[in-house]
Amino acid sequence: MHKLSRATLSLNGLGRCLIAEKYVSAIKITSRGFVCAEHRDESGKNEVYDVIISGGGLVGSAMACSLGMDPNLEGKKILLLEAGNKKVMDKVPDTYSTRVSSISPGSASFLTGIGAWDHITQMRCKPYKKMQVWDACSDALITFDKDNLEDEMAYIVENDIAVAALTKQLDSLSDNVRVQYRSKVVKYAWPMPHQAADSIPWVKVTLASGETVQTKLLIGADGPNSMVRRALGIPTVKWNYDQSAVVAVLNLSEPTENNVAWQRFLPTGPIAMLPLSDTESSLVWSTSHRLAEELLELDEESFVDAINSAFWSNENQSELIETAGSLFRSALSVLMPSAGSPRQLPPSVAGISPKSRAMFPLGIGHASEYIRHRVALIGDAAHRVHPLAGQGANLGFGDVACLTKLLSQAAFDGKDLGAIQHLLEYETECQRKNLPMMAAIDLMKRLYSTNAAPVVLLRTFGLQAANMIPTLKEQIMSFASK
Ligand SMILES: Cc1cc2nc3c(=O)[nH]c(=O)nc-3n(C[C@H](O)[C@H](O)[C@H](O)COP(=O)(O)OP(=O)(O)OC[C@H]3O[C@@H](n4cnc5c(N)ncnc54)[C@H](O)[C@@H]3O)c2cc1C
Repeated sequence: MHKLSRATLSLNGLGRCLIAEKYVSAIKITSRGFVCAEHRDESGKNEVYDVIISGGGLVGSAMACSLGMDPNLEGKKILLLEAGNKKVMDKVPDTYSTRVSSISPGSASFLTGIGAWDHITQMRCKPYKKMQVWDACSDALITFDKDNLEDEMAYIVENDIAVAALTKQLDSLSDNVRVQYRSKVVKYAWPMPHQAADSIPWVKVTLASGETVQTKLLIGADGPNSMVRRALGIPTVKWNYDQSAVVAVLNLSEPTENNVAWQRFLPTGPIAMLPLSDTESSLVWSTSHRLAEELLELDEESFVDAINSAFWSNENQSELIETAGSLFRSALSVLMPSAGSPRQLPPSVAGISPKSRAMFPLGIGHASEYIRHRVALIGDAAHRVHPLAGQGANLGFGDVACLTKLLSQAAFDGKDLGAIQHLLEYETECQRKNLPMMAAIDLMKRLYSTNAAPVVLLRTFGLQAANMIPTLKEQIMSFASK
């Protein structure tokens, strides 16, 4: 898609959520919901749920726990449908998994509230206190840390462990939430927004087994290729980045406290090393598809050399940028002598865990509408981001917290959970939070994808200045840690 039209569409989304919602509600309520309705309900005796969540990944499972824990929703019939197997973990695996997420303090307290965080910490999770981000073209850096080193900046959690913890919590909520694994949805039929004689009253969900169920509210948590979103024909701004992420579990050369997350922006994409233990870290290396494929093919020794060189090599630096950067840094330190954080050096890598290398193509996507009549989208089904800021799952947990709050209030007020009024509030509130974050992540991706001297100079000055201004750093941290 053309860049301008993408930007316009994104801005449209932003603009829409910034317009006074009350004013547009009436228009939206009448304009939404004109999706193909299937007017046939041959069974008439399908079980009707108050809420069905389609997709039990990180975000859908959290949604099911969150609804199951809410006292106002007690007695509601809630069903979680997941295409895959149940992910139980009787014992923590000896080896680390390659798929990890950096979980913000805000998400950790949300997971505490739904009873999953204790399960996670009892299994395995690694807090970190600091993050150093630097530019391979100039070595300009920014360090984020907490003044009070008692506080954690974020936590690295293996996705399998997070899902297993949520699954365990769902087991304890079995009176409130029913969970069906190996239950792939193959078809949806939508009710009309207004009473019509030939319209089905609820959303009808058909499973691959042929079973059908109905729901007053369908929550689509079925990931970036969401079938719910596609079946509703919701317009989505999306494009694939010219990058894939190579992930692996890294063995460090020597044990360290390992409580710093490292990210270096190379012209081909960011490389990040996230702490797992004193001796192991997780690699997320976003790079061109071609280089990603080559990295997967390398023997272990060459792969390790490539990682160390990506963190340490000066091959992308030029004398001009270096001189301008150091002059600017000196000028700043005259103005603010005690500001800024000293450079730390990342640990070097000695090896990788066997068979831990994998690659994932990267993209961005944003559904222009998160809701329709009796339907809401959450998590990657609504928005997908580049992993450079470690925000995808965190944004999804934000959706869950917001939707639960509104559904809880609707239940308390005795309202229909699938009514569009409170779903609209959900959409407005979440788009207002998600769009600025998505725009910031996409801008960073673009800003660092070039080694053109004027852009490198600009971002060098910007990063150095940001590193010297504590209030600005605090604002960035609080923006990212919700
Ligand atoms: C390399 C990489 C690194 C990342 N790092 C971070 C990070 O540090 N921090 C962070 O916050 N985020 C991170 N993310 C993003 C994060 O992984 C995702 O945002 C998050 O996993 C999305 O969860 P989800 O539940 O919305 O979707 P998914 O994980 O895609 O789950 C969707 C679920 O729906 C099920 N499903 C799909 N279709 C159907 C159907 N028809 N019927 C029934 N079930 C269905 C699937 O089986 C799946 O279980 C990263 C992503 C990548 C690629």
